[in-house]
Amino acid sequence: ARKPFIAGNWKMNPGTKDEAVALGKEIAGAFSSSTPCEVALFAPYPFLDATVDAVGSSGVKVGAEMAFTEGKGAYTAEVSVSMIKSVGCNWALAGHSERRTLFGESDEDINKQVLNLLNNDVGCILCIGETQAEYEQGLVGPICTTQLKKNLLGVTPEQMANVVIAYEPVWAIGTGLTCPASEAQDVHATCRSVLADMYGQAVSDTVRIQYGGSVTPETVDELMAKPDIDGALVGGASLVAEKFSRIINFEE
Ligand code: 13P
Repeated sequence: ARKPFIAGNWKMNPGTKDEAVALGKEIAGAFSSSTPCEVALFAPYPFLDATVDAVGSSGVKVGAEMAFTEGKGAYTAEVSVSMIKSVGCNWALAGHSERRTLFGESDEDINKQVLNLLNNDVGCILCIGETQAEYEQGLVGPICTTQLKKNLLGVTPEQMANVVIAYEPVWAIGTGLTCPASEAQDVHATCRSVLADMYGQAVSDTVRIQYGGSVTPETVDELMAKPDIDGALVGGASLVAEKFSRIINFEE
């Protein structure tokens, strides 16, 4: 059975280190031996170190929202994998839709990021998902298939143990429109069959696939009850300790 995995993506929030530390502490305090999932917080770079300290030995993991593909050098403002590892982070996101649409990251860029993370033993949550226009054209399956194939190019079956997929329909992000659980389940099943084509059924059966897009305490239980939904990637609700605490302690 796959251990569920729920992560908070803080994006360019909270506004100060003190707020990040307070939030990290509250969330860590809500994580206990009865929490039914792994939990990670993806924090802005300046707060990674402090958030690692804030969650302490609770078991909550802290990761970066992306990591640049080069090891070091003249890349003003970029952040390398060794930098994030050195402050205690062993996870990073790659391919978030905001990186794709607002910052022009291509499937090839994202593939390089994924390989760089995995080759440096950092776990990767690869975010995929269709835009509103693609959704309306009925292209959900083909878009997710293409993104999985292009973004995971060269990733070995062994490395898939360090990969989590987040299906995030772009039209559901920050809009309050959660994808209906049964519809999300269908997409997750499609993604799992694509992974089975790429890596074989045994590997595909072990890969956690999170749903992301307006997940709230009200929607999490129904989503988590679906057989191929193995967790959530939470934006807005991960900034409110009370809400995120309820989300990670979903009703099984
Ligand atoms: P919201 O939960 O705010 O819709 O954001 C989802 C997301 O983009 C997580 O990466």
